[in-house]
Amino acid sequence: RGTLGVLARVSWLGAHHVLLLVEDRTEVRRVEEVRRDFVVNVSHELKTPVGALSLLAEAVAGAADDPEAVRHFASQMQRESVRLADLVKEIIDLSRLQSAQGVVQPELLDVDGIVREAIERTGSVVRARGADVVVAGERRTRVVGDRELLVTAVRNLVHNAVAYSPEGSRVVVEVRRVGGNAEISVIDRGVGIPAADLDRIFERFYRVDPARSRSTGGTGLGLSIVKHVAANHGGEVVVWSVVGEGSTFTLRLPDATEAAASSAPLRVPA
Ligand code: ADP
Repeated sequence: RGTLGVLARVSWLGAHHVLLLVEDRTEVRRVEEVRRDFVVNVSHELKTPVGALSLLAEAVAGAADDPEAVRHFASQMQRESVRLADLVKEIIDLSRLQSAQGVVQPELLDVDGIVREAIERTGSVVRARGADVVVAGERRTRVVGDRELLVTAVRNLVHNAVAYSPEGSRVVVEVRRVGGNAEISVIDRGVGIPAADLDRIFERFYRVDPARSRSTGGTGLGLSIVKHVAANHGGEVVVWSVVGEGSTFTLRLPDATEAAASSAPLRVPA
């Protein structure tokens, strides 16, 4: 890397025509490396739940005359299967997002509705950790985007805020309109993120504390998905965090509130 590698290919098209193809090999090689790393990481990550399931199956077979042990191992198998299904879903989501240019199915959306649905989808972790998730800010904000992708992005941020905070914590989801953008901030008072890790947490499978991520059902792909959803919507995600004090993740998207209001709906005369 660092040096620009250029490949020039000359093809004879006929007696007087020459086609010169120049491509930037550095970029080609970089994309190839990223793809190869992804495949290696994915295989590694899949091995963990698959290995656990195989061991648990052996344990069940060995404990056939102990119903209590069978129940215990079966419930662990159930948990590992859910982890495996989540991981596969996120890998598919991420590879779709990486290959898509922009938003495939744009709609005019209420941010309030996106936030509420995202919170509903974090129900199991919120209940398990006794968290309190509250919504604040401007209720009538609108954006243009893909509903499913935006709900997934906000859900991932709320899931993390709850997972990386002490039990019984409060998480605030605040919606604001600032300088042409709609901002959805997810604010927690949890463990925080060391400064040295801040620019790496959006990488695929990067975790500050792998044991904690695993214990809360993390896949290591959540923030990478958020970053790609933001980029595909012409937006960005930014983070502010202090260890021991908490974190704020802000998803910033182009604000469509006024544009939507100015194209007034047709009034049907009575
Ligand atoms: P994971 O599935 O491990 O949560 P993510 O991609 O969602 O994967 O996040 C990457 C890492 O960033 C996490 O493992 C965690 O270390 C850190 N992280 C993400 N959100 C928070 C948060 N709200 N508070 C503290 N750490 C966080």
